[in-house]
Amino acid sequence: MRRGFKAEAERLAEKARTDMGKRPSDHVDAVDFARHVGATVRCADELTTREKLETLEEIQPGAFSACTFTIGDKQVIVYNPLSSPGRTQSDVAHEVSHIMLEHEMKSVETIGGLTFFTCDPEEEQEANWLAGCLLLPRRLLYLAVRRGLGGVEIAQEYNVSQQMVSFRLRTTGVLRQLGVAGT
Ligand SMILES: [Zn+2]
Repeated sequence: MRRGFKAEAERLAEKARTDMGKRPSDHVDAVDFARHVGATVRCADELTTREKLETLEEIQPGAFSACTFTIGDKQVIVYNPLSSPGRTQSDVAHEVSHIMLEHEMKSVETIGGLTFFTCDPEEEQEANWLAGCLLLPRRLLYLAVRRGLGGVEIAQEYNVSQQMVSFRLRTTGVLRQLGVAGT
């Protein structure tokens, strides 16, 4: 990732919350972030059949998590209903991040009869990083750990996956800062 991006992402995430009138420690749903950037969120089973999505998952597990379509001047984020709620939060926040960072969807791929837009690997990393900052900003984690919450409780309280919590606890250095052993 380019120099300075991580700090920039943390700032962008904080600014989004402030603009939405939320405190750093508030739980903000990924769908609310989508609304904030002017995008709508749809479940993929509104566009295709659940059966097709299940077949795709069998052919290529994890191939489709979420994607963004531009229809006219409207952006629509479509997520996979087969994913867990925590995973969906990450996936939708990832798509919101692409929009916030003004990434262009470049190539189009077709897997199992469904069409996908993909970004370049560098932009994928940036979107993943910013998604983590949006869902679990550093300040939120700091306050949660200080309240005595462990990784499992944080995941439950903020409706995110445990992987996301572990990733953010590790990369923000919050545990080290508070002198807490890893969860
Ligand atoms: Zn992406």
